Amino acid sequence: MFKISNFYDGKVNLNHNLPTSDIYDPSKGEKIGEVVLSDTKELNKIIESSKKGFEIWSDFTPLKRSRILSNYKNIIEKNINLLAEIICKEHGKTFDDAIGSVTRGLEVVEFACGIPHLLKGEFSQNVGTNIDSWSIRQPLGICSGITPFNFPAMVPMWMYPISIACGNAFILKPSEKDPSCSIKLAEFFSEAGLPNGVFNVINGNAEIVNQLISNKYISSISFVGSTPIAKLIYENASKNFKRVQALGGAKNHMVVMPDANLDQAVDGIIGAAYGSAGERCMAVSVAVAVGEIADNLVNKIKNNVENLKVAPWTDKDSNMGPLISREHLKKVLEYIDIGEEEGAQLINDGRNIKIQGYENGYFVGPTLFDKVKSNMRIYNEEIFGPVLSIVRAKDYSQALDLVNNHQFGNGASIYTSNGEVSRHFTTNCKIGMVGINVPIPVPMAFHSFGGWKDSLFGDHAMHGMEGIRFYTKLKTTTSRWPDSIETGPEFKMPTN
Ligand code: NAD
Repeated sequence: MFKISNFYDGKVNLNHNLPTSDIYDPSKGEKIGEVVLSDTKELNKIIESSKKGFEIWSDFTPLKRSRILSNYKNIIEKNINLLAEIICKEHGKTFDDAIGSVTRGLEVVEFACGIPHLLKGEFSQNVGTNIDSWSIRQPLGICSGITPFNFPAMVPMWMYPISIACGNAFILKPSEKDPSCSIKLAEFFSEAGLPNGVFNVINGNAEIVNQLISNKYISSISFVGSTPIAKLIYENASKNFKRVQALGGAKNHMVVMPDANLDQAVDGIIGAAYGSAGERCMAVSVAVAVGEIADNLVNKIKNNVENLKVAPWTDKDSNMGPLISREHLKKVLEYIDIGEEEGAQLINDGRNIKIQGYENGYFVGPTLFDKVKSNMRIYNEEIFGPVLSIVRAKDYSQALDLVNNHQFGNGASIYTSNGEVSRHFTTNCKIGMVGINVPIPVPMAFHSFGGWKDSLFGDHAMHGMEGIRFYTKLKTTTSRWPDSIETGPEFKMPTN
């Protein structure tokens, strides 16, 4: 049994007076640890630490910051197995998948190492006669990030490496369901040479989030989680005049056209629907079978689904592990009941799965519904589990309407061998991240991650240049030297 506390002033600070929340091993359904739920006093200490951190860090040259980020990258690479194991124990995803997720986070650190180049401003000579003008980007101050359970390393790493590279201090509030990884990530940053107070971790639940979004010393809020909470955060943090980016839920569609390479499409669907037990914001949860391809597609998916191995992360052959919690398991099972009641055709039923030695784990088997209709709850709502819905569309235009009329707009992909159709799709879909013959179109760190519609509230996506813009303020200076020609006072707007 372990206890996770807060990280500030370059170390873990255990406060025994704080209440705690339980941490579970989802494979066994057993309590394995506790995490503190921070209060105002604890937040105030962390804010003081962050203020000191920011004062020192914002004076570091971008090149010095880059060197520390580079050390950090090396330390994470050396310890990637350790981080993956921590993730598996609390989240339940397979080991290889956990390694993949840390690697995707690490790419953001690699991107942030380029900060001297990324922060280069713009300069114009002679914007007027003998007048020059330049723009620079300066840090905001103390930034904060609130993250979900499903990627305990990657999602925080979408935020803090860039924020810190830009010269800010950062306070991370990870999910209370799997908080251990954040503490390790913070310890490694200190080991890399980051001054104390620049990266702090505060643990807790909604109560501490509400304090973070209203704290006067915090300049920006980055949030990733479910849509109802993303909306709430966006609304309330904006009311408190913070810069906000709030990423929400998803219901990602994969459109399979009659001319698609069917085997490729099926491989894409299986991995993207059932990988990480469907607990990915870029999981494919709807396959849209267009025209005559439908029966063939359903049969091939069905055959693949039957061969998937559901097992704890310690089993190297596992394709997918358990869900995060007993409550979430109940919710996903209820959705399968709802799908049946709504009249969708249940092809593969993941309820009642039993794994020897792990009978109390939060496992659901891969579940497949065919003939799902657009008015059904299982189509409209985010299930966030291994439940794939197949919707049959008569043609491409009907498939595109399905994608565009859905409330979520995170990701979508199309499988086709027709360039014209794929070009029409990328131009006309109301979606933030689009794949062509790629199942999970997650942008690399040097592009930016973010959806449309109810999948993102705010003006900026995460990482890439969007991250640099979000975590900095623009300053433009216009300059003339006193020995240049004097014109006397001017009462009209200057025009040359
Ligand atoms: P969640 O919304 O329950 O929690 C996210 C964070 O918000 C946690 O840190 C939690 O402590 C905090 N929180 C929870 N309730 C709160 C409240 N009432 N007030 C303030 N803070 C609160 O999400 P989750 O279950 O941890 O994660 C799953 C969700 O995250 C899914 O909906 C998934 O689609 C989404 N997600 C989205 C993306 C994306 O990029 N769009 C990425 C990953 C996950």
